[in-house]
Amino acid sequence: MLKIYNTLSKKIEEFVPIKKSEVGLYTCGPTVYNFAHIGNLRTYIFEDLLKRVLEYDGYKVDHAMNITDVGHLVGDGDLGEDKLEVGAKREGKNPLDIAKFYTEQFLKDTDDLNIIRPNKILPATQAISEQIEIIKLLEAKGFAYVGQQAVYFDTSKFPDYGKLSGQKLSEKQTAREEVVIDKDKKNPADFALWFFLKGRYEHHILHWPSPWGEGFPGWHIECSAISRKLLGQPFDIHTGGVDHIGTHHTNEIAQSQAAFGVPLANVWMHGEFLLVDRGRMGKSEGNFLTLAAIKEKGFSPLDYRYMCLQAHYRSQLNFTWETLKAASVARSRLIGSVMGESSSQKVNEDYRKRFNEAIDDDLNIAKGLSIAWDLLADGSIVSEDKVATLLNFDQVLGLGFGIGAEMVPINIATLLEERKLAKVSKDFAKSDEIRKQIEALDYEVMDTPEGQKVKKKIQI
Ligand code: AMP
Ligand code: ZN
Repeated sequence: MLKIYNTLSKKIEEFVPIKKSEVGLYTCGPTVYNFAHIGNLRTYIFEDLLKRVLEYDGYKVDHAMNITDVGHLVGDGDLGEDKLEVGAKREGKNPLDIAKFYTEQFLKDTDDLNIIRPNKILPATQAISEQIEIIKLLEAKGFAYVGQQAVYFDTSKFPDYGKLSGQKLSEKQTAREEVVIDKDKKNPADFALWFFLKGRYEHHILHWPSPWGEGFPGWHIECSAISRKLLGQPFDIHTGGVDHIGTHHTNEIAQSQAAFGVPLANVWMHGEFLLVDRGRMGKSEGNFLTLAAIKEKGFSPLDYRYMCLQAHYRSQLNFTWETLKAASVARSRLIGSVMGESSSQKVNEDYRKRFNEAIDDDLNIAKGLSIAWDLLADGSIVSEDKVATLLNFDQVLGLGFGIGAEMVPINIATLLEERKLAKVSKDFAKSDEIRKQIEALDYEVMDTPEGQKVKKKIQI
């Protein structure tokens, strides 16, 4: 029985889907104005693990994600410049070209991390009419009003406004200037649903007609519109990083529930931050690392995945190169112990049960991983059954055991992992030495952007 923590009830709950065996899952997608950093990617790994656990438990998962390509302002409030326009200026391009490029980069990163792509992906700019429809409904029901700069949601009309964050409306921190910038704004927490091409947005590049005038949608309305369009309302689980609790998700809930009279989603789940030097990793903090930086140092993206698997999604995780290196060593050992062995197709039922219990306990993947290690150390189980069981666990862990399992003999696999570690430690003499040992065993080793590849030398 799957139990998960619901931010809305602040409790661990038994998961009960709306439909018997199908789950509607929504993930807040990236703002595609720059490369994702590995903090963002930690959240997508968490969401991938959630989806894999649901699938392991026998559910069919309908997984939808938006791509934010308009309306997300610097600072998440109603004040800053649109992030896409920031990117467009920086690179001298059109915002839609910026969005296209960084969407592709994002999807490549997630592929590298063995994250299964959502089966439905929709950019905000392709759901403008759906966003306008919700704003129209909100206006008709008295939840929205037109100001000088934008159409706003009236937070005072929605009594449950702070339920997700546990914050009272009066406690909500909002920039004081917002009230000054638009004197028509009734309450500081009111947020923009539709911006006009006025004042600071006079020259906003992307804009569309609307019943209130030419303009562009606010950030929060896109997720209300896209999740409803792709999954229906209510759907089962809505996910994102913890920074979305206070504003973005709080606003999504208010808009969707006010417009349609039913909740947007039953369960809200949030992944904790990746930290650097104990502070949040973020683009505005200027302390971020991309997946490319990790690969440049010789690590595999799956080493980073392994590192994330070791921490619970509701705990903060501090990034250091030492932690990544330790994860790399551990992953190499784990893979090294199954590479080249064949699978019996006989999953050990005792271990499978223990693994399932761990992952069903609010996604205790770290425990699941330790059960995989216990399995490997268990002398009473033959290696073919160990491989079969590990391949079964890998449906959730996603560490790519299946890829290596039949391809190279174990002695070559072990040498490859040693060579990778030598390269990470910049011990190039050792890595060359290992290359020679591999060649002496009739294998050819190549360094590719995806890591080392081997090929059996052709004998004539
Ligand atoms: P964005 O591209 O800014 O819309 O963010 C994409 C995802 O990354 C969101 O779910 C954020 O909550 C999440 N996120 C942002 N910073 C971090 C961080 N340091 N650690 C983990 N997740 C983060
Ligand atoms: Zn969202």
